[in-house]
Amino acid sequence: MIVCKFGGTSVADAAAIRRLIAIVAARAGERPLVVVSALAGITDGLLGLAAPVHAGDAEALDGAIDALVRRHESVAGVLPGAEPAVETVRADAESLRSSLSAAFGRRLRPAEMDALAGHGELWSSRLVAGAMHGAGVPSAWADIRPIMVTDDRFGRATPYVQVLNNRARECLRPLLEDELIPVTQGFIGATADGVPTTLGRGGSDFTAALLGAALGAARVEIWTDVDGLMTADPRIVPGARTLSAAGYEEAAELATFGAKVLHPATAMPLVRAGIPIVVLNSTRPELRGTTIEPAAELERMGDSPIRSISWKRGITVINVRAPRMLGEYGFLRAMFEVFERHEVVVDVLASGEVSVSLTVEDRSRLDPVVRELSELGEVRTDDGRAIVSVVGIGLRGTPGLASRIFRAVQPANVEVISQGASAINMTFVVREDDGPDVVRRLHDEFFGAG
Ligand code: ADP
Ligand code: ASP
Ligand code: MG
Repeated sequence: MIVCKFGGTSVADAAAIRRLIAIVAARAGERPLVVVSALAGITDGLLGLAAPVHAGDAEALDGAIDALVRRHESVAGVLPGAEPAVETVRADAESLRSSLSAAFGRRLRPAEMDALAGHGELWSSRLVAGAMHGAGVPSAWADIRPIMVTDDRFGRATPYVQVLNNRARECLRPLLEDELIPVTQGFIGATADGVPTTLGRGGSDFTAALLGAALGAARVEIWTDVDGLMTADPRIVPGARTLSAAGYEEAAELATFGAKVLHPATAMPLVRAGIPIVVLNSTRPELRGTTIEPAAELERMGDSPIRSISWKRGITVINVRAPRMLGEYGFLRAMFEVFERHEVVVDVLASGEVSVSLTVEDRSRLDPVVRELSELGEVRTDDGRAIVSVVGIGLRGTPGLASRIFRAVQPANVEVISQGASAINMTFVVREDDGPDVVRRLHDEFFGAG
């Protein structure tokens, strides 16, 4: 069997869903399992309902819910077989309207946000399953929630892999054996008690990988709106080139440092079984895309020592200066314990003679962290930063790379630089506003102007 995951833009409208059906039908002999994201923009729209709820603005809430329903109606209206899906959307929207109205004037709790956000995938999967049926492709809508059993860390829930593996085999295999194409939801799950959760933004890729591993897929296809994993985000660098192959570790690093095309955890479940991931463009299915696999032959991109550049905005740099402490045993441990206690993830770390700099993405739990770090040394935080990461093969053995990077990004100022432990990335921090320019200059330097 294979897993075919379609991202938001690949189910955005009726034309996209027709393309999806053609892609899946062409693979019927390989027993595809279809995983879908919400229609493009719908997850943001659902999460955006929290604002009128907080403000107690009934009119704004009604308008926003109506717009979500209309969007699904307009797609279903031109797709034979999709009409019953709209009944579900309308019914869910009514129950959302009443439950959200009951919360007027307060902030929604994380559990409520997850329940809200998850509707997008429930709706899109109904539409797609209906439309496939209407097009004569035998399909079966499958609810992922009893399969994707997770803990209750809302907004970033972790699946219980053993349970998931068993349930996926129990619930999905019979459908595949009956030669039906299951259509299920990415991104969402539920606790053992059935409380809805989500795996974090962009999490549908991770769902597809988990299901691929559970069912022993021959490959996991990630259908999106670009030609594959590229030398940079093509929205920033129009001349970016597609990598024909990539390694798991390389893909994971690119994703961790901002290449949104893959969720950072996607490769993880597939490593042990060596199942390849293929990133493909749903508007140009004839292209070969990028194959990510363990034995990937990593071609050099021309004479460049690097293979791609990613960047991530919304970063805060925390600098801890502790002249007296730094040489002491236990300083770094004490520092990291603070982050661990507050469950704040550190992305990049660089240490100097008397100071340590690190970066975090999530500002929401930073205040207590800074307070506790202040007991260890002098703390400074800088917001509005971006991480830029160049990823290549054996970068550690490339003389003069850092100076070449510094020269290329001038006049932008490089603030923190760190060579990843893996020897395949070099990462540094710049001001957020400089980010796109820095990426373009680096791309010109290493890959030519396109
Ligand atoms: P989907 O909805 O299909 O999951 P996403 O929007 O999550 O799609 O991811 C695809 C986007 O990732 C592309 O449109 C592109 O702008 C962005 N992107 C960032 N870095 C890269 C990269 N190195 N290669 C390809 N795409 C990238
Ligand atoms: N729809 C979810 C999001 O927008 C999950 C995904 O697209 O992967 O984050
Ligand atoms: Mg995505």
